Amino acid sequence: EEKNLFSSTGSNICIAVRKRPTSEKERGKFDHDSVSCFQNKVWIHSAKLKVDGITKYLTHNSFQLDHAFGEDSTTEQIYLATTLPLVDHVVNSQGRATVFCYGQTGSGKTYTMNGIQHILAYDLYGQLAGIDEEFEITVAFFELYAGNVLDLLHGRHRCKLLEDGKGEINITGLREVSAATPETFLDLIEEGHRHRTTQKTEANDTSSRSHAICQIFLRDYNGNLKGKLGLVDLAGSERGSDTKQHNTQRRSESADINTSLLALKECIRALGQKSTHVPFRGSKLTLILKDCFSPDSKTTMVATVSPGASAADHSLNTLRYADRIK
Ligand code: ADP
Ligand code: MG
Repeated sequence: EEKNLFSSTGSNICIAVRKRPTSEKERGKFDHDSVSCFQNKVWIHSAKLKVDGITKYLTHNSFQLDHAFGEDSTTEQIYLATTLPLVDHVVNSQGRATVFCYGQTGSGKTYTMNGIQHILAYDLYGQLAGIDEEFEITVAFFELYAGNVLDLLHGRHRCKLLEDGKGEINITGLREVSAATPETFLDLIEEGHRHRTTQKTEANDTSSRSHAICQIFLRDYNGNLKGKLGLVDLAGSERGSDTKQHNTQRRSESADINTSLLALKECIRALGQKSTHVPFRGSKLTLILKDCFSPDSKTTMVATVSPGASAADHSLNTLRYADRIK
C-alpha cells in the first residue's frame, strides 16, 4: 500500500525522513543517538538521561511526515515508497517528477540519492520495456554552485542560464547525453559523481555547497519531450542557519544557498496546494526547476538526518523544513 501513497491521498508531494546509522566516529565521541523513527513519525530527543536505569528524555520534538525511515531501512524500501510512484508517473503518464534529498552535510543525502539512482536505472528501463511507445532516454547532470551551472558530464564546463521570450529556461552548452541502457545510464551517473568528488579533494569541499541536479528526459523519435525526472542532491542545509561565517565568499554562498532552499520550500508548498502561482523566480535553483512545478507534477523530498545529539539542532531544522512543506 505504501506504493500508492500518491493515488490514495490525492497528494502530489511525498515527504519522508531518513535517519542514517551512527558512524564509528560518533560512537567514538559518545555522540549518542537522539533520533527515533516509527512508521511515519520521527522524534528528536534533545537530551537523554539515565535515571535509576530508566532512560528519560528531557525534551523532545516529534513530526509526522509521510514516511520515517530508521537506520535499519534500506534504499530499496525508500525507493519503493518515494521514487517508484514518480517513475510510474513519468513513464505511464509522461509527466514531470522530481526527487530531492535535503539535509545537513554528512546526513546521507548523496548516499541516499546515489542508491536511488542505482535502483532507478534498472527499474526505469524495465518499465519502459513494458509499454508500447518507444522513447529515447537522455541524461543531463550538472552542479549549481554560487550561481554557476557546471556540467558534470563535460568536465565541469560552465554553462549559461537563459530565459527566452516565451519564458522557457534554457541552459546553453549543457550536454544531454543519450543513455540507451541502464549500464550507460549508470556510467553517466558515475562520471557525474566523479566530477563532483574530484573537486572536493582539489579545492576545499564545494560539494556540500552546491546542488547536484540530474535530469532524465524521455523523448519521442521527433525529439519532443514527453517525460522528465529530476534527481536533486541539495546543498547542505546547515548553512541556512550558520551565521558565524567570517569569509565574505562563504557568507555570500551561504546566503545564496539559504535563498534557494527557502524558495524551493515555497515552490513545493505551492505545488502541494495545487496552486497555479508558484514563486519559481525566487532563486536560480527554482528557475531551473520551473517546469517541475506545474500542478500535475509530482515531488518527493527525502529529508536526511544524522542520529547524533551534537547534530540535533540541525536535524530539528531539517524536520521543521520538511514539515512546513506538507
Ligand atoms: P551528505 O551527502 O548529506 O553530506 P553523505 O551521503 O556523504 O552525506 O553521507 C555521509 C557519510 O555517511 C558517508 O560516509 C556515507 O557513506 C554514510 N552514510 C550515509 N547514509 C548512510 C546509510 N543510510 N547507511 C550507511 N551509511 C550511510
Ligand atoms: Mg553529499
